[in-house]
Amino acid sequence: AKKKNGNAAIIYSSDLPGSSNSLLRLETKLHHALQHHAFELHYQPKITVQTGKMEGMEALIRWTDDELGVVSPLQFIPFAEECGLISKIGEWVLKEAATQVKQWNDTYHLKLRVAVNISPKHLAERTFVERLKDILQEVNLDPTHLEIEITEMSMLDQNSELISKIQDIKNMGITISIDDFGTGYSSLSYLKQFPVDALKIDRSFIKNIRKEKGTAMVEAIIKIAHALNLSVVAEGVEDEQELRILKEYACEYVQGYHFSKPLNVQDFTHHIEKNLLS
Ligand code: C2E
Ligand code: CA
Ligand code: CA
Ligand code: CA
Repeated sequence: AKKKNGNAAIIYSSDLPGSSNSLLRLETKLHHALQHHAFELHYQPKITVQTGKMEGMEALIRWTDDELGVVSPLQFIPFAEECGLISKIGEWVLKEAATQVKQWNDTYHLKLRVAVNISPKHLAERTFVERLKDILQEVNLDPTHLEIEITEMSMLDQNSELISKIQDIKNMGITISIDDFGTGYSSLSYLKQFPVDALKIDRSFIKNIRKEKGTAMVEAIIKIAHALNLSVVAEGVEDEQELRILKEYACEYVQGYHFSKPLNVQDFTHHIEKNLLS
């Protein structure tokens, strides 16, 4: 097993003897993290291309374990999906993000909208909509200040139950976007079945945007979205040139290191004060 990302590599070192032990240990650690507030959310600004103004942010989970150090969500989210902890984690993220954006909006008289990543397994839970309503009520958040990002994987199963569930969420006033668009396995047909609001172009496409075919791909995605009345968010925008191309094709929103990395609560508060208050 690689030691590159610190000890986090043990998570998938199934080739090692005793690995089921370390998986068990990881599950215990995740439980412990939930109970002892070892998760934290960072927030990355989302910017309106036309105005250059921040309209909201994406919440991204962070986990620091005493022994393992910082563990990437790319490592522990798939594990949490497998061991059944993802819904608990997802509910924590929803409540935490809702509470935080409510506080920022109340304090600074803003209408920022926070986007939360929801795992397909969590979305598929029978009680998802009910719990979502509970959380919004507990936090007293205006539903239009919440967005949920779901991946194409959530849509593979095009059953009417899921469609009506998404409709219910939308009817609450919550914005819904399709995350990592273009990287999944599904056909485009689901796009007109599901009442979503926006497409998020995956960073892998933005990375290639300077290449001839890369430009064409991004242009095509934006055209599909607009033809279906969906707005477009580009993630992973790292420089001026990428922004310029996206602007040319009328992409509505951008996120990426060019504007800001994901920030902890304190740094994001400073970011608001510096950029949105005059
Ligand atoms: P994602 O939803 O596609 O999120 C975008 C990822 O790209 C984030 O990585 C973000 O920090 C990173 N990023 C943003 N701008 C740039 C850029 O300009 N350049 C580069 N190189 N990277 C950029 P992160 O935070 O490590 O999250 C990775 C993935 O983990 C997310 O991908 C998402 O699928 C998942 N994830 C993160 N937080 C949560 C969560 O609360 N719940 C669930 N279910 N999944 C989460
Ligand atoms: Ca996302
Ligand atoms: Ca992505
Ligand atoms: Ca994702």
